[in-house]
Amino acid sequence: MTEYPRVVVDLSKIRENVKFLTKKCEESQIDVVGIAKVFSGSTEIAKVLVEGGVKYLGDSRVENLKQYESLDVPKIMIRLPMKSQIKEVIKYVDISLNSEISTIALLNEEAGKQYRIHRIILMLELGDLREGILPQDVEEYMDQINSMGNIKLEGVGVNLTCYGGIIPSFENLGQLEKISDLIEKKYNLKLNIISGGNSSSLDLLLKNNMPSKVNNLRLGESLIFGRETAYGKDLEGCFYDSVKLEAEIIELKEKQSHPVGEVGFNAFGKKPIFIDRGMRKRAILAIGEQDVDQSNLKVMDEKLIILGASSDHLLLDVTDSKKEYKVGDIVEFKLDYGSLLQLTTSPYVKKVFN
Ligand SMILES: *Cc1c(COP(=O)(O)O)cnc(C)c1O
Repeated sequence: MTEYPRVVVDLSKIRENVKFLTKKCEESQIDVVGIAKVFSGSTEIAKVLVEGGVKYLGDSRVENLKQYESLDVPKIMIRLPMKSQIKEVIKYVDISLNSEISTIALLNEEAGKQYRIHRIILMLELGDLREGILPQDVEEYMDQINSMGNIKLEGVGVNLTCYGGIIPSFENLGQLEKISDLIEKKYNLKLNIISGGNSSSLDLLLKNNMPSKVNNLRLGESLIFGRETAYGKDLEGCFYDSVKLEAEIIELKEKQSHPVGEVGFNAFGKKPIFIDRGMRKRAILAIGEQDVDQSNLKVMDEKLIILGASSDHLLLDVTDSKKEYKVGDIVEFKLDYGSLLQLTTSPYVKKVFN
């Protein structure tokens, strides 16, 4: 018996997207870190990223990276390590992104204990105001990193379009290039990785405007959804529908569209507003706010209207559809990054990989 609700993933579409985008990046001498974080540590996805040609696997959580242990590519932790997880980071991660010298010092100490060399990418703050050291502090950081015997500076990186919505440009990524030049000259070393951001950097790349020294991108959303994220444009040559949600109808009845009685607060303490459209055919689906924020869902049958949701119920108006829905039928939804992230995190939602 098939169980619902479930997220259905077409792995071959994701594999094609990965092949296509890694090839595009390769044409500009750029290696891809495949970011699997939106799938909560799924090895199925991690495998497909590797098969598709990514050079590294990246994830924000060490728990997820541990799942990828048997896959034969370097693992990158793309969220700054917590001091409380240093042991696991050294054990399961080859390269971590860093911006705090006291954390790097702990990594150095633990790497020594585990007889390892831990590689780091120093993150730079270039305008988006999430993680990264300020450019004027680079030399101070470098002097200290250079004194640590079990840390190797693998490269520098930047993250944009995450908090501040700053779009990657020839100027801000040019700054990354300049800082990497400065480090290489002043400290007489070679940086292997100049990591120029996430899926929001693809537009710049495809317009051939990427500073030439950038040789690495960390891609997640674009590989799954075939979309760059600076302007939200679909990427030509990619699949946009590799994932969908299926949920089951548990009630279907004609009811009034305006609730009956005095309107107070709904399940989430808000006062709802209703339009009276007379009697309508309504479906209740067995999925709710505990699984996904309904405002992030799009129904594939465009004639269906999402009315709202409570913790465990999603309400649809099915009156205008050509299809005669009945109890037990399955309704399909398109997903975006936010809804997929929530759904893969819910233990109540099954994940099916085809
Ligand atoms: C999530 C994340 C990425 C991947 O971003 P996408 O928009 O999914 O490509 C890359 N780098 C860091 C540091 C991230 O947190």
